[in-house]
Amino acid sequence: MAVPAPADDEDEPTVAALIAARPFLSLHALDGLVLEQVPLARIADELGTPAWVYSAGTIRARLAELQAALAGLAQVHFAVKANDHLAVLRLMAAGGAGADVVSEGELRRARQAGIPAGDIVFSGVGKTAREIRLAIAEDIYQLNIESAEELEIVSALAAAMGRRVRVALRINPDVDAGTHAKITTGTAKDKFGIAYHEAAAVYARAASLPGVEPVGLALHIGSQILSTAPYRAAFARAAELVRTLRAAGLAVRRVDCGGGLGIGYRDGPGASPAALAGAIRAAFGGLDLELMVEPGRWLVGPAGVLLAEVVLVKGGRFVVLDAAMNELMRPALYDAWHGVVPLAARDAVGAIAPVDVVGPVCESSDTFARARLLPLLAPGARVALLDAGAYGAVMSSTYNARPLAPIAMVDGDRWAVIRDRQPHADLWAGERVPDFIA
Ligand SMILES: *Cc1c(COP(=O)(O)O)cnc(C)c1O
Repeated sequence: MAVPAPADDEDEPTVAALIAARPFLSLHALDGLVLEQVPLARIADELGTPAWVYSAGTIRARLAELQAALAGLAQVHFAVKANDHLAVLRLMAAGGAGADVVSEGELRRARQAGIPAGDIVFSGVGKTAREIRLAIAEDIYQLNIESAEELEIVSALAAAMGRRVRVALRINPDVDAGTHAKITTGTAKDKFGIAYHEAAAVYARAASLPGVEPVGLALHIGSQILSTAPYRAAFARAAELVRTLRAAGLAVRRVDCGGGLGIGYRDGPGASPAALAGAIRAAFGGLDLELMVEPGRWLVGPAGVLLAEVVLVKGGRFVVLDAAMNELMRPALYDAWHGVVPLAARDAVGAIAPVDVVGPVCESSDTFARARLLPLLAPGARVALLDAGAYGAVMSSTYNARPLAPIAMVDGDRWAVIRDRQPHADLWAGERVPDFIA
């Protein structure tokens, strides 16, 4: 039977090319795939699979690279939703990054990890009264307002508490980020932000309200953005609005430039921090503003892998793993491409053939890769799914009553378990069977 050719075999990188493009990964004859200085097989031996592994060194290096590109220009606030583990947030705090949070849980996690309230920005289209009150009580750096309606709610809640909260208006610049439709946020048909043509009126309204102090603008046009053109277009519109507001006598001191920096999921480069810095400088350089960015994926995506074992190979065509869409949801949700690399050196060489790499969950979308050119993998072979550090474990569910997978963190030649595998009994720990059906 003919096997379908890969959709884009032109850019299908080899296992060697995937490893070569990732400075913290290497392949050794005896140790196999090594993250920083720790053989991933050793972690899989101890924790079993599926299991996540994060590289502290990668996170530190990427934060430092971004901060260096933005030195003297913009502050970094890590978008917690990309990876909210306390150890990851602790690395961000230690590196001097603040946090961008979108829920009470994320705000509490960030505080728990030692990120000061004064370094926290709260975004999100549907903050509840309880979340807004908590943000006000904590006196966070800034609340990003997503609508005219939310502005009224926030002002009323703050005034009732006898407080005035610093807010930025998130504007929707109506710019297409050129990314996947499910992660585009800055066009007029998306639910996010205040329409550009209404923003000046809403800003003036904010200046007249008792409970809020408008300090500036925020924007975030989407995720996994690889070119600077959409940033330049969105920033130009924001800069124009800053000038308009100031000409009307309104104070504007801050612009939050959002996140969205993309990474190279194949063997190509990701978005360049220097190019982002150039776009920020070009738009806002002369405007005397406090600037910030709030990337998530770029900082942590390349720092994580998901380890899995081959359960069986069905008909030579389907490689069935013990990891599934309930661990890593991105392929099912966004048709995302993740590199698949064998842990053992002997599995990484040899004849390649196209296979579908799938999980065991009862959904056809539980597919990690289609027609992927991979060396032959026998049952028991283990693989790493690459670039799973962002929107990986945070999106996991226990669908099919599969417990949450454990997480390890590597740092140089050391490693530690930073989350245990969830015991099965925890799956139903909060459940009760009512008397009337017993
Ligand atoms: C998701 C999100 C981010 C981070 O996006 P990345 O693509 O991970 O950089 C930043 N800001 C806001 C408001 C977000 O919703």
